Amino acid sequence: GVLAMMYEMPRHLFLDEALQHRAYENTALSIGYQQTISQPYIVALMTQLAGVSDPSVKRVLDIGTGCGYQAAILSRMADWVFTVERIEALSFSARERLQTLGYKNISYLCGDGYAGWLKKAPFDAIIVAAAPPDVPEALKQQLSPGGRLVIPVGEGEQQGLRLIERTANGFVEQTVAAVKFVPLVAAGQT
Ligand code: SAH
Repeated sequence: GVLAMMYEMPRHLFLDEALQHRAYENTALSIGYQQTISQPYIVALMTQLAGVSDPSVKRVLDIGTGCGYQAAILSRMADWVFTVERIEALSFSARERLQTLGYKNISYLCGDGYAGWLKKAPFDAIIVAAAPPDVPEALKQQLSPGGRLVIPVGEGEQQGLRLIERTANGFVEQTVAAVKFVPLVAAGQT
């Protein structure tokens, strides 16, 4: 299901014209502001790990909107997507792009992803596209029971992609793959 969705998604529309000829390579590419559109394989893996194709997953939080590619994929699979981006220009242009493309079930916030989006919590799935040194507690607390958080954790070259599930008794955590993401920037840092 995830692959079928990605096959239909026009990734070139999320890139500057100068990079559009590379849109269907399996690589991360620059979107300006020292940020990247994630590698398609990693987007697919995170979407699958978050369980978003399960009909019980209705509300999804996407941290690090960037150009909006992951949000677009989530929006096709879930009832509603809440997406948070700290760089105002990226948040604004992603919103314009996704609205032009006709996505109506996405809410946008320019803010700090470490805090999640408390007013809209809980979420059945949370996907984070930038790496903090440790799992932010606020994100775990905003999971609904049975909810899943997929997040890269670690600094520099040493990141592990974690899957954290909220169970009746607490949280179950596993590291799934070695990955390399841009840092999740803490509030007040540049
Ligand atoms: N989801 C995007 C990936 C964007 S890269 C895609 O589909 O390709 C990660 C994004 O996280 C960048 O745009 C970066 O600005 C943003 N980011 C970094 N730290 C953040 C924070 N603390 N809160 C919100 N967004 C953050």
